[in-house]
Amino acid sequence: MQLDENLTATHQSFVSHLECGLDRDSYPADQIHGLSKAGRPLLVRYDLEAISAALTKEMLARRPAGLWRYREFLPVRSPQNIVSLGECETPLIRLPTLERGAGQLIVKDESRLPTGSFKARGLCMAVSMARELGITRVAMPTNGNAGAALAAYASRAGLEAFVFCPEDTPEINVREIAAQGAKVWRVNGLINDCGRIVGEGKESCGWFDFSTLKEPYRIEGKKTMGLELADQLGWTVPDVIFYPTGGGTGLIGMWKAFRELQTIGWLGEKLPRMVAVQAEGCAPIVKAFEAGTRHAELWPNAHTIAAGIRVPVAVGDFLILDAVRESGGFAVSVSDEAISHALAEVANREGLLLCPEGAATYAAWQQALEAGQVRPEETCVLFNCASGLKYALPPANAHIDCNDPTAVAELAARLK
Ligand SMILES: *Cc1c(COP(=O)(O)O)cnc(C)c1O
Repeated sequence: MQLDENLTATHQSFVSHLECGLDRDSYPADQIHGLSKAGRPLLVRYDLEAISAALTKEMLARRPAGLWRYREFLPVRSPQNIVSLGECETPLIRLPTLERGAGQLIVKDESRLPTGSFKARGLCMAVSMARELGITRVAMPTNGNAGAALAAYASRAGLEAFVFCPEDTPEINVREIAAQGAKVWRVNGLINDCGRIVGEGKESCGWFDFSTLKEPYRIEGKKTMGLELADQLGWTVPDVIFYPTGGGTGLIGMWKAFRELQTIGWLGEKLPRMVAVQAEGCAPIVKAFEAGTRHAELWPNAHTIAAGIRVPVAVGDFLILDAVRESGGFAVSVSDEAISHALAEVANREGLLLCPEGAATYAAWQQALEAGQVRPEETCVLFNCASGLKYALPPANAHIDCNDPTAVAELAARLK
């Protein structure tokens, strides 16, 4: 058995401090932190100059692929604290028959990660850091995939995990959370209602709040999507990235990655335009983007088949909107009907079964091309964030009677 040598390498972390995403106040590293004093997400800062002196692209290229290849850009100080389930490099899959011009249309297929979603990147990092900081009991609200990843990594690390999901969370998610050793409850509300329960229980139940962006390290895990993408493209970036946006960790993380790479000179001037994709039934970021505001209002009666992006209010709203605007990108919403149609089209024509959230990015790309927000010669990357197999699929009910002697002949006649 070949163990990932990234996990056994002794390495030093280059974290210098943490910083409030809103007012830039500084917080010491190596201590347990939730939100900043301003009630906003904390961002991990590194001594980028030291990274740039210690690491070359060539050194990196000699390491095994996967999340821990980028360890200098990550917060874990001691390799013994790494909790890993084999976080692979996810493939870039072109969709040649769906392209409309000279630009490539590429899916970064995150479904290949442990627990079948990119939540593994964030929770792998957050749980490793929980272990490093001596946290033993954690809780989170989830629409499904984050809870599943937390359950898996927490069990592996020996942490106790408590998970709260909306009642209509996909059944498979609720069961995989339970199967992977977490305590899970269904809640008669949405993810923000689940979040309230987690907040309320902090003192009395003695757990640490692992909600999206309420602890600083999930962003760092999700940041590896940006590091890995740039690495896979030979330290270049695509023209546009379409990202299905719920809490926004991935979009914020990737933008942070690109900025860090730019600072050390591994990327040039050009960064991708970041597009936040939401569903028409839950589009608080799109609304705020269009209104020109820095914060988003709670979206009432949120609904969409794309459970992972059904997030009516995001504590990192301004970080999403800042990144989208700085990048020259935009925010766009698509209907559930367009999502279903996109899912079927990509599966039928390219053999790639996306999750509904991933399908939303394809629908958004089509919409953006038609609106002239993206040009056919631009290379676009769509994020497929989870396995399509984790969601209910359309029924397939054709039946054949094995005792009917004419059945195959009838089938053959129909195929003529
Ligand atoms: C969580 C999730 C999202 C949203 O990710 P954020 O980074 O929190 O915005 C999108 N798609 C799927 C499948 C998810 O599980």
